[in-house]
Amino acid sequence: MPCCSHLTWSTNEFKEWARQGQAALPMQSALPRTYLILVGYLTDGRQENKEKLVDGCLYVKDNTGIIPCELLHFELEWLESLFLFPSWSYIPQTDQSAAGYLEILVDPVPVNLVKKVPDSIPVTYQASAKTLLTSRSLCKKRSKLTVAGELTRCGPLLCIHHKTFFFLFLKCFASAVWVPVLVQKPSQLAWHHTLQLGRRYAITGLNLTSLKKSGQRMFVTSDSSCLLPYCAEQMREQSLDSAWQGESTQSSSLETAEQLSDILELRVEEERPRSTKESKIISYVGFVTKILNIQAGLFLLDNKVCLCLAYQQLLNSARGLRPGACVELIDVHLLQKPLVSFPFIVLGACLSSTVVLKSFSRLSTPYQPPASSGNLYLELLFRYNLGMPLYLWLVSLLETFEERFSCFFGRCQPLLRSMHRNPGAAEKFLVPLLRAAVPDTEESRDIYNEILERIHQCPLQKYVTLNPPCQAPSLSAVCRVAEQKSWEGFSPSQLLSPLEEQHMGTQELNRRLAWSYCTLSAGSFQPRLILLGVLRVSSRSSSLQLQDKSSTLSCVISHRDGSPFAHTALIGSLLQVETYQLVVERFLQTDFPSWEHLTNLEYVRQKKHSVYVQFYYEDVQVLHAAEGQIQKSLGRRNSSSLRKRDGGSLTSELETPEAKMLKLEDPKPDTHSDENCREVQSSARTTSCVSQLFLVTQKEGLMLRNYQLPGKDDGEGWELQRSFQATVLWLGRPRLWSHPREIGNLPELEESVSDGEEGTTRQEALLLFMGKSLRWFPFLHLNGLYRFIVPRCSDLEVFDKLCFPPVPVKFLSRSSCPLCLPVQDTWHLQHETWISRLPELAARSVLTGMDQRISSIPEVLSNSFTGSLVSFSGKIVERTLCASPKTEKPSVTVSVQKQKGSLLASEHTVKLSVSVAPGSPVVLDVYIASTYLQHLRGLLPGATILFQNLERKISRFRNVYCIYIASSCVSIISLPASRLPFPFSPAGENSSTSLVFLSSLQPHLQSLPQARILCHLSCVLTLSLQWVCSLCSSIFKEGRCTRHSPPCPSHTGVRQASARVLVEDGTGEALVLCRNQHVAAMLGLSLLEWEALQNCVQSRGSVSVQHGEATGTGCVEEPEDLIACYLRSLCRSPLICRPILLDFSLDRKPSKILQPGPLQLRNFRSDEVEFVSQVGPRLRLLCLNVKEVEQDTLSYLNSKRMRRTSSHC
Ligand SMILES: [Zn+2]
Ligand SMILES: [Zn+2]
Repeated sequence: MPCCSHLTWSTNEFKEWARQGQAALPMQSALPRTYLILVGYLTDGRQENKEKLVDGCLYVKDNTGIIPCELLHFELEWLESLFLFPSWSYIPQTDQSAAGYLEILVDPVPVNLVKKVPDSIPVTYQASAKTLLTSRSLCKKRSKLTVAGELTRCGPLLCIHHKTFFFLFLKCFASAVWVPVLVQKPSQLAWHHTLQLGRRYAITGLNLTSLKKSGQRMFVTSDSSCLLPYCAEQMREQSLDSAWQGESTQSSSLETAEQLSDILELRVEEERPRSTKESKIISYVGFVTKILNIQAGLFLLDNKVCLCLAYQQLLNSARGLRPGACVELIDVHLLQKPLVSFPFIVLGACLSSTVVLKSFSRLSTPYQPPASSGNLYLELLFRYNLGMPLYLWLVSLLETFEERFSCFFGRCQPLLRSMHRNPGAAEKFLVPLLRAAVPDTEESRDIYNEILERIHQCPLQKYVTLNPPCQAPSLSAVCRVAEQKSWEGFSPSQLLSPLEEQHMGTQELNRRLAWSYCTLSAGSFQPRLILLGVLRVSSRSSSLQLQDKSSTLSCVISHRDGSPFAHTALIGSLLQVETYQLVVERFLQTDFPSWEHLTNLEYVRQKKHSVYVQFYYEDVQVLHAAEGQIQKSLGRRNSSSLRKRDGGSLTSELETPEAKMLKLEDPKPDTHSDENCREVQSSARTTSCVSQLFLVTQKEGLMLRNYQLPGKDDGEGWELQRSFQATVLWLGRPRLWSHPREIGNLPELEESVSDGEEGTTRQEALLLFMGKSLRWFPFLHLNGLYRFIVPRCSDLEVFDKLCFPPVPVKFLSRSSCPLCLPVQDTWHLQHETWISRLPELAARSVLTGMDQRISSIPEVLSNSFTGSLVSFSGKIVERTLCASPKTEKPSVTVSVQKQKGSLLASEHTVKLSVSVAPGSPVVLDVYIASTYLQHLRGLLPGATILFQNLERKISRFRNVYCIYIASSCVSIISLPASRLPFPFSPAGENSSTSLVFLSSLQPHLQSLPQARILCHLSCVLTLSLQWVCSLCSSIFKEGRCTRHSPPCPSHTGVRQASARVLVEDGTGEALVLCRNQHVAAMLGLSLLEWEALQNCVQSRGSVSVQHGEATGTGCVEEPEDLIACYLRSLCRSPLICRPILLDFSLDRKPSKILQPGPLQLRNFRSDEVEFVSQVGPRLRLLCLNVKEVEQDTLSYLNSKRMRRTSSHC
């Protein structure tokens, strides 16, 4: 308990004292009063423990113990005397276990003062000063000197190479000369407490010395040196050489807080960004109002100025510097805005500044001492010779780092501790950043020079306002900023092409808006954002996550070589990622009536989003490797499960990143912490474990299944359990290990290789993952060799005992049915290797009899493909939402999952167009119902995905497509290239499309995304312009929907147009279906003409014309209708028939199935030339873009084409 004692005071006196103390900080309470008598010896610790304690601090001791104390006034002769302390405060540390210190408020009363009456003061008659300083020979005589003068400066206590010392400066009376004196004997360090600026002292027994490096001269104390008050009668004054002359203390002014703000206001005006500023040297008196960061030596004075003591090493452990204390700062640097994000102006105390405690705090404010050793703040400050801007940035990074991760690693794993040979996580994180930020040219710091140089030199003199080069904020802040960025400047019309949107009905329009995403990289943030997090895996969401104290962030990790991420050993490790894609999936619930309302955001009903990050394992830096999970559960042990895997048959493992990681891992946990926190191992607890090696031959997706969690056998609440299952091949037999760390290479494989006989040691099993074991979902992959480890178990039959047949025994007719094994919560999964990395012999023996097949996309598309379940990999070209097929009834799972808050409405299905490689014409569509999408992250255009066990289907148009079913599974092989294309790409943008011939198109390859032909428009077969209701698609006429039963409330019509035209390119003929704006282009109408035409249709509802007929069948308008007449004549006009450049895709849903017809001979006309060509059946194409052909281009293209054609014939 903090307390104070004032023996001689009345209650009123105490109250007045406390009241005054509270004036500065009204929120704090004063120290409570106690009535204890304190009697003890004052000592500098010299007799305690050799010289270990002599660190320049003072102590009060009695026969029961010793406690540090801080005095405002101290006389050297008090040392080793017994005192009664009438007035003192006891300040405990915030950490209750450590002892606090005493603040001595009033001079102690001696009980038995040993009067050390000095003998006559030794007077040394110095040789002529000039000779003294110039002649080397005289110095070698080592004659002891006495120097007297006024104390002008007293430096801070410093400790360098385990030697504690300080400098003081005496000004000679006769001249303005001041001489430096180095005080370095342990018994003299107590002088530091008694010295008072402006008083006169004489110091005896000094030697003259000079610095090797700079040759600067100074006096240094000897063992016989004494510090004496100066008495003029006893001393003979010597004038010193002119070499000292000209030195004078720097001019400095004493500022009050008010004056300070005046200066600052002036400075604001003249401040220029990014220019080097010179700090002003000032003096200042103020109250400590807050401790900003004790480890970093940052204090807040008067609520407005930050005092930085870091450059002075903080050797007195900042005792006395509690809120409420008054300090005087002499010759400190004033830095106005060293760091953009730092809110205060900074007073930086350098080695030539003096910090004097003027009065103790009367408040009950806590004291937390800075770490005396291994203080990473100070360590890095001195190692990299940081200026104030970089130091403050370092402090902010470290503060955030500690705040975010100390809860994970606790006190035993000091993240912040600095060890030269064993850097902690924070140091691993910061050192590269500092190296990048500190210019190489920076000289190493010369502290003697800083202290002694006549012209002051120190790291605080000049500074440039720093814009932090990077940031590492908490994960909750990352999510918040990412979310903000993703909605910032978002407008629904961004997601749609302006030409398409005006023809969309309500449903389609809103569906296109429902799901979108954006990706952010480190550089999308200002400053660059570095992700840090502890890798966790959630059994609730079965996803990998980065975690800190504030939040979690789901992540998708891939390998650059395409192998899946399976590093089970990485769980619990602290990772740093600088190259990543932060994905924000946006979910919008809107009911825009039509495109015209897109700017009115009232129609946005709900906005949701989910954020996750994806990155490559190769871009991960492990800042702190986790101890093996199993070890953790067995109690802390000084071991690592990671290091065992080198050597043996698995030499290939060494080249993997896994091997790289091992090097990153701490070679040995630091012994100090190990002693402190190693749990006492209970001898009774067994460390033995049983392991079983297996190969994954099939993995199914996560979904609700009809299983029961163990321990809920009572039949009540037979709920569907979220689960996944995997078919595995047991390799070898279960093995017993005395400790998990002893698990060796892969002896099971050698065994099965040498075994030779198949079937004896191999058996299939169906692993069932539920509850907590769901956490293994992201790690378990096809073709991976894994090991189950059952901790604290010695029963080799543990796996057999838990197995059960998947169906009741009476139905179990076939013996080949694999046994079902529910994976227990306590088991650990350990990834060993991939089958592809096994030595050939072992791999072959494992693979024998395995039927594992991954098809290619053309194989899946081919008509000859048999089988309904397919696995293949491909790159996502496009991701679109479509309506779920109405025929599919929503299953039970749908309703359950909907309750759990799926972000996409259940009526949606996602269509992924997957191609073999970018630009490949072969595309396969994969449909995934929105209910499955909850657990599927990373399905973004550009990503390469391995799809497993999809159901292959054939549409009524004979198109092959795949759907994601319960047993399906996806894994992400590679992430999209860093910059993703905009969600839609307006047709025709792709100018690199090369020209093809109609005859070269193969109708059986239905999935040609886009191609271009130069063709001749032969005629327009049908043309129809309509206004349709945006809700029900009925004809919309004169501002109303024409549907009557039931009446439609819609007030919005959407214009739509379609046309079928015939084109030929000399090698073949094709029927082209054009829609909307392409119709205008086909007809050669300008936008204005098209607009006018459509407006004319508005009153009519619909206009259609058909080729070769006077009146169109099914037309609603009279034959005399002007618009119909106009369109008919337009279609018949010879001007329509012209050469065009047509971008198209094959119509994948033609109204009739194409029958391969016989080749025919047809007449064609190209310019003035007529020729005959053999053509196949008419192709059906979808128009994507129409371009007029310039005359020059046409003749160029034609000549080129003729050459090619003739070479064909
Ligand atoms: Zn300085
Ligand atoms: Zn309607």
